Amino acid sequence: MKKITADNTIFAMGKDNPPALEVDPGEIIEFSTKDCFSNQIQSCEELFESADWATINPATGPVFVKGTEPSDTLVVDILDITLADQGVMVAVPEMGALGDKIEESETKIIPLENGYARFNEKISLPVKPMIGVIGTAPFGEEIPNGTPGDHGGNMDTKHIVKGTRLYLPVFHPGGLLAIGDMHAVMGDGEVIICGVEAPGKALVKVDVIKGKTLNTPVLDTPDHFYVIASEKDLNSSASKTLDKTYEFLSERLPLSTNEVCMLMSIACDLQISQVVDPLITCRMAIPKNTFALYSLSFA
Ligand code: CA
Ligand code: CA
Repeated sequence: MKKITADNTIFAMGKDNPPALEVDPGEIIEFSTKDCFSNQIQSCEELFESADWATINPATGPVFVKGTEPSDTLVVDILDITLADQGVMVAVPEMGALGDKIEESETKIIPLENGYARFNEKISLPVKPMIGVIGTAPFGEEIPNGTPGDHGGNMDTKHIVKGTRLYLPVFHPGGLLAIGDMHAVMGDGEVIICGVEAPGKALVKVDVIKGKTLNTPVLDTPDHFYVIASEKDLNSSASKTLDKTYEFLSERLPLSTNEVCMLMSIACDLQISQVVDPLITCRMAIPKNTFALYSLSFA
């Protein structure tokens, strides 16, 4: 196993970031990550406004995966996610989808104990560690880690958890994988711009599939494939997600166009991952059991 420490920090994903680590396909890597505030907010007295904005949304990386070329697909198996023993949330006026209701800035420190995030004395939520930011170097100009795209990035998709596999498009040699922004808990939408933000460690195995990219991330979980897409508003994000899902299914199933569309309408669920990053990320949930007799797979 190779390790990459949290001081190997980047703030934008791009082809010019020098690799912090080189690995062969099949290798296991432990990424240590800071929280999305670069661990600057550790108590209720420290407000979002006091943090250095230049260090918001760090990601650890990038990792160069040998033999990976543009138009290949990077395969990331998420073997484990462990988090620190406390997380942090902020509510900030004018930020996120509820910013008009938030009059005063506030920081809440949330203890993570025995598998629960303790919000207050009466509300504890089961911890479901997830990765908010994960991606490769995008096509064209670099993209800040706070923004999602075809390369992945700030997708804030709560199903990116231990035991899942993410397929990411490769646009530059080595792929240049980076990971950050882990959450102990997050709801779909991430409506006030944060989940329960926590530093931690992600243990992943990387591999490469030659070619086969859908040019958008695809998550493979025990029960579903999720085709994920991000765009500037909800309508265009939903439409791109549907187009990419159609492409995914029609290339893999011996069914007519109409049948694929019918099945997308009755078996698949169009869902929202996040609405604040600042693009909107949607995903289409494709239940594997529906297509069990067709052996639907990414590769
Ligand atoms: Ca995020
Ligand atoms: Ca976050």
